[in-house]
Amino acid sequence: MELLRNPRAMREWADARRAAGERIGLVPTMGYLHEGHMSLVRIASEKGCGAVAASIFVNPAQFAAGEDYEKYPRDEARDLAMFRTASVSAVYLPGVPDMYPEGYRTYVEVEGVSKGLCGAFRPGHFRGVATVVAKLFLAAKPHVAVFGEKDYQQLAVLRAMTRDLDFGVEIVGAPIVREEDGLAMSSRNAYLRGDDRIAARCLSRGLFRAGALFSGGEREAEVLVRAARAEIEGEPRARLEYAEGRDPDTLAPLSGRVGAVTILVAARVGPARLIDNVTLGR
Ligand code: AMP
Repeated sequence: MELLRNPRAMREWADARRAAGERIGLVPTMGYLHEGHMSLVRIASEKGCGAVAASIFVNPAQFAAGEDYEKYPRDEARDLAMFRTASVSAVYLPGVPDMYPEGYRTYVEVEGVSKGLCGAFRPGHFRGVATVVAKLFLAAKPHVAVFGEKDYQQLAVLRAMTRDLDFGVEIVGAPIVREEDGLAMSSRNAYLRGDDRIAARCLSRGLFRAGALFSGGEREAEVLVRAARAEIEGEPRARLEYAEGRDPDTLAPLSGRVGAVTILVAARVGPARLIDNVTLGR
């Protein structure tokens, strides 16, 4: 497994892999790995990528002022050990000055789909995400890039960016990997202790509740969303940011009778900001 620490090293690796006729899969992460990340690596291999590059970069551009950039959990040695057990051929670990040298000024703004939901609560977040992923695509030259549905709006933003900028990268969405009690895996779950960890179940519980209603024949978007919201609002340790029903493809707001709907939720539990979602009718 090769370690690449700057864009030039990443590019040279990608050029060599392409010259050898290999298909490159890219799995971008911010590290502090869990099974959700590892599932993305497996999916990249299953998509026929003989050369899988994973990146670890806590991207300052996607954190708003006052967010958890400084205290975001980091453990490079543990992450590399985990990637070594998987089919990762190269790990890209650029430093902040490599990605954003003095005088850096170029950003990618994806209109429409990056507004609302998390975009409304995290100013500049998706601009930072789109920018760093564009830079990762240019350095790693992947044929395929795998992203988790856990960050559903992010996936929609990146699909739009890839299309609009003609990156020619196949974007693959990967199902959410959950803890046994339903909590969606996240590096930020490390912030949860004791009662907060138990309270955090309210997000997935609400989504499962909406899913059960849908299975029982309920099709009114508002009723489904209200069921999810009620579980979160009923948890005293949780502070709801949003619970919304959106079109699974366009993320356009939905109301009334729906054939398919994605319910997206965000809430703060103790020191952690948590997000989760479920798509019903697909
Ligand atoms: P992060 O390190 O949190 O930026 O996440 C890196 C990638 O892993 C993103 O594409 C996430 O959507 C994905 N991911 C994070 N958590 C999960 C999960 N529980 N299940 C599936 N994918 C995930």
